[in-house]
Amino acid sequence: MSTPILEVRDLRVEYTTPAGPAQAVSGVSFDLAPGEFLAIVGESGCGKSTMLFSIAQLLTYPAQTVGGSVKFDGVDLTTLSAEELRQHRWRDISVVMQSAMNALNPTLSIAAQLADACRAHTDWDDEKIARRSAEVLDMVSIDVAHLKSFPFQLSGGMRQRAMIAMALLLEPKLIIMDEPTSALDVVAQRSLMRQVENLRRSLGFAVLFVTHDMSVVSHFSDRLAVMYAGEIVELGATREVFDHPRHPYSNGLMDAFPSIVGEKRELTGIAGNPPSLVNPPGGCLFAPRCHFATDECREFRPELISVEEHAVRCHLVNPRVRS
Ligand code: SF4
Repeated sequence: MSTPILEVRDLRVEYTTPAGPAQAVSGVSFDLAPGEFLAIVGESGCGKSTMLFSIAQLLTYPAQTVGGSVKFDGVDLTTLSAEELRQHRWRDISVVMQSAMNALNPTLSIAAQLADACRAHTDWDDEKIARRSAEVLDMVSIDVAHLKSFPFQLSGGMRQRAMIAMALLLEPKLIIMDEPTSALDVVAQRSLMRQVENLRRSLGFAVLFVTHDMSVVSHFSDRLAVMYAGEIVELGATREVFDHPRHPYSNGLMDAFPSIVGEKRELTGIAGNPPSLVNPPGGCLFAPRCHFATDECREFRPELISVEEHAVRCHLVNPRVRS
């Protein structure tokens, strides 16, 4: 891999709860190359969105980052002041939220919201702001006439594309996307994903993309990280993880969604529920739901071990070396 643009090491996030701290993200580490598309998948509550917000330094109480580092272009974002972070936001890293209707201001036109972002992060004059606003709207295939529109006058798909236009304003090197397609129908999802992919290829930004829908990212991401109970349990090239999932949880996820090619098959879910993150069990966190669990699995927590470019956290795949 070329020099990573993002290096996440041993990232840990806790939520304060009446029952004690809940370990929402436990020791997550990965690299992201310039221009790469890394998808993070996993069921609701597995910590994927919390991890994204921690990387973007956007967590608020009761969540807090309690350990690890997030290096962007060699700078550890976890050590920066609010003002220093402001310098990086939009210019270097931008975030597209899950629901555009919540993220966009309903009382301002799209032009006014694009201008606000420009004024907060650049010294551009009105003419340059107007030119750039029209450019980014055109990039996401929204007619520039909609600069005058208010969010409620746009369709769901157009609102999400307007959010992506805002994210592109200052040509960031990394765009973080938190389930941007979850409120869209399947046709709008596919159209948005194609648009993101074309823009990534032409502009060269990297994408960190969170979703619980495996089919959304299957054709668009370079690599896939599967999260379970706050940990990455498998990380590898997307095609490889889809075609040969090695962790029993990844395998279960693959069996839980339909394919539009190949034979029709019965879909199976994964029985049981994720463990408590306040009092997580010892050993492998997936053991209570895993058909292959052994006494060793219930006693010893597996490490995420890489063989070449593929990393898996499972004793079955990486047998423990007994001392
Ligand atoms: Fe299943 Fe054991 Fe692997 Fe955990 S370590 S996923 S319990 S086989």
